[in-house]
Amino acid sequence: MPKTYCLDCDAPIQVTDPEEGDIITCPECGAEFEIISVDPLDIDYPLDEEWDEYEWEEEEEEEEEED
Ligand SMILES: [Zn+2]
Repeated sequence: MPKTYCLDCDAPIQVTDPEEGDIITCPECGAEFEIISVDPLDIDYPLDEEWDEYEWEEEEEEEEEED
């Protein structure tokens, strides 16, 4: 079973069926992490809502004007 370690308390976290983007919870401290890579298994802190402040550039759609 794939295993990784909590970034907060170093407790081993076993992941039954890891998938990128999944959120896993440390059984020791309850911290949540996002799986960013499956092979090798790697986790990172999940993105916060703070990122909402970042505005993606909107693609301007060019429309042909019909007359
Ligand atoms: Zn932990």
